[in-house]
Amino acid sequence: MKIQAVRGMQDLLPRKKKIFRFIEDKVRDVLDSYGYREIGIPVLESTDLFCRLVGEATDIVEKEMYTFDDRNGDSLTLRPEGTAGVVRMGQERGLLFNQTQRLWYAGPMFRHERPQKGRYRQFEQIGVECFGMAGPEIDAELLFITYRIWQVLGFADGVKLELNSIGSKACRLEYRNKLVSYLSRYRDALDQDSLRRLDSNPLRILDTKDSATRDLLKDAPVVTDFLDRESRKHFDGLKSLLDQRQVPYNINGSIVRGLDYYNNTVFEWVSNDLGSQGTICGGGRYDGLVEQVGGRATPGVGFAIGLDRLAMLLEDHCETSSECDIYVASLGKIGKEKSLLLAEDLRVGLKNIKVIVDCTEAKLKSQMKKANADGARLAIIIGEEEATKGEVIVKHLETGLQSQVSFNSVTDYLAKALPEG
Ligand code: ATP
Ligand code: MG
Repeated sequence: MKIQAVRGMQDLLPRKKKIFRFIEDKVRDVLDSYGYREIGIPVLESTDLFCRLVGEATDIVEKEMYTFDDRNGDSLTLRPEGTAGVVRMGQERGLLFNQTQRLWYAGPMFRHERPQKGRYRQFEQIGVECFGMAGPEIDAELLFITYRIWQVLGFADGVKLELNSIGSKACRLEYRNKLVSYLSRYRDALDQDSLRRLDSNPLRILDTKDSATRDLLKDAPVVTDFLDRESRKHFDGLKSLLDQRQVPYNINGSIVRGLDYYNNTVFEWVSNDLGSQGTICGGGRYDGLVEQVGGRATPGVGFAIGLDRLAMLLEDHCETSSECDIYVASLGKIGKEKSLLLAEDLRVGLKNIKVIVDCTEAKLKSQMKKANADGARLAIIIGEEEATKGEVIVKHLETGLQSQVSFNSVTDYLAKALPEG
C-alpha cells in the first residue's frame, strides 16, 4: 500500500515554495522598515493555553485543534494560531511589563477543518503583535503596515479593509444581551450552529454563512451603536488616521472575529479574487489577554496574514528571479572534478552569484539545454582537453559568443562579464 500525505497537509513544490519565499522577503522588508523584531514561538503548547486564551466556545477550540497526550500524559496542542503563544512567551520571558514591544513571527499553524481551495490543515501565517500601546495610533500603524504589504506585493487595488469596533467588555455585554433578545424571537428560523451559539457565543452568529440567518441579521442591533465614550473615541481616532493617510476601509458590523479575546478594533482584509476563502488577514486589539496568562493588564494589538492565500493571488504574476547565473558543464572525470572545484572558487570570489554544477554524465548538448532551462546567463564548459590545459570555455548563452579563459583568471573574467544585479 502506498503511503500518502495526510489529508489537508500540503506539499510545497519548489515553484510554490519560491512564491512563499518571495512573499516572506517582501513582508520582512516592510516589517524591518517599521522597526518590528522577529521572534520564534513553539509549534507545540499546552492545550490549556488555547482553551483559555482563544476561548472554549470558538470554532478553533471546539472542533479544529490537533490535541494529543504526549508520552508523559501531558495534553499538548499543535498551535492553531500564534497570538496565544506570543502572549504566553511575552509574559514568561518578561517582555511585557512596563515596556512596548513590536514583534512578529512566521510559521505553520494547524487546524482540523474541511480541506478545500485556500483552506488547509497546515497553513502558513505571518503574525504581528504589539504590546504596551493603548491608543489608536498603533492600530493605525498595523493597518498602514498591511496596506504597504499589499502595495509592495502589487495587489493593493484588489483588496478591501473591513473594519469594526466591538468596544469594551462592558458595551459588548450590553450588545450581546440586545442581540440575544432580538434573535431569540426568531429561534425557529436560525440554523443549527447559530441556535447553539445563541447561548455559548452569540456574537459569532454575525459571522454565519447561512443565508436565512443572514437575512435575519439585516435588522439586528449593530454593535457600534453600543460603544461607550472611550471606545467611540478610540474608533474615531483610528478612522481619522486612516482617512488622513487615505487608506480605504468599509465599516462592517458583522466583523467580530472568531476568537474570544478581542476588544475595540477588529478588522479583516478581503481579496476580491479568491472567492469564498477571500480573507487574507485578520486582526484586532486584545487588551485583556495578558491578564489571562497571569500578567498585569497590558494593551495588545496584532494581526495574522495567511500566506497560502497570498500565494494563490501571486501564482500567476509573481516574477521570481532565476536560480542560476552560471551553469558549469563538463565532460570526463577530470572535467567533472575541476568543474566542482571551480564552482567553489566562483561562489567565494563573486558576490551574490548563483552557480549550478552539472553532476551528470549527460552529453554536452543536453547539459547546455539544462543551462538554458535553468535561466543561466553564462555557461562554463570544461571538457577533458580544457581540463588538462588548465582552461575553460565561457559561453554567453544569449549571444552564443564564447572565449577560452585560463583557470586562474576565470573569476576576474566573470566579474566583468556579469555586471552586478
Ligand atoms: P476563515 O474565516 O477563513 O476561517 P479565520 O478567521 O479562521 O479565517 P484567522 O484565525 O483570522 O482566520 O487567521 C488569519 C488568516 O489565516 C486568515 O485570514 C487566512 O488568510 C489564514 N487562514 C486561516 N485558516 C486557514 C486555513 N485553514 N487554511 C489556509 N489559511 C488559513
Ligand atoms: Mg477559520
